[in-house]
Amino acid sequence: MSKTCPTNGALGKRVDTQIVKAMLSLPLNILGVGNYRFCTDPDCPTVYYSEDGQQVFVEDDLRERIYQKHVNEKESTICYCFNHTVGSISSEITESGKTTAVEEITAGIKAGQCACDIRNPQGDCCLGNVRAFVKDFSY
Ligand SMILES: [Zn+2]
Repeated sequence: MSKTCPTNGALGKRVDTQIVKAMLSLPLNILGVGNYRFCTDPDCPTVYYSEDGQQVFVEDDLRERIYQKHVNEKESTICYCFNHTVGSISSEITESGKTTAVEEITAGIKAGQCACDIRNPQGDCCLGNVRAFVKDFSY
């Protein structure tokens, strides 16, 4: 068993198979029985891979574009539950000096509207990514 990406050798983050099922645009009977990992390297085309090294899925196999692979592109979705993009957050900051995205997402989570575990390709909450993006963008 290998925990590293067969394409670039980086250690990927373990994800629940549920998110791989939710993201794949291929028939799900190709799925193996083992665990899957997520490669966050923007320079690596591999998104998910199986720990047995037998399967690799790239963006063309998936229903969503992957934020981590296109961090600097305006059209990249960063919050997959409430549809915030790199462009929407950065233009809000440019126009008003701040963004309400973090508050909106937090309110949505409290209201039980968030579904990061099945909508965000990384399989968990986007808030860390949004906070890091806002911090970098606002310096
Ligand atoms: Zn990789």
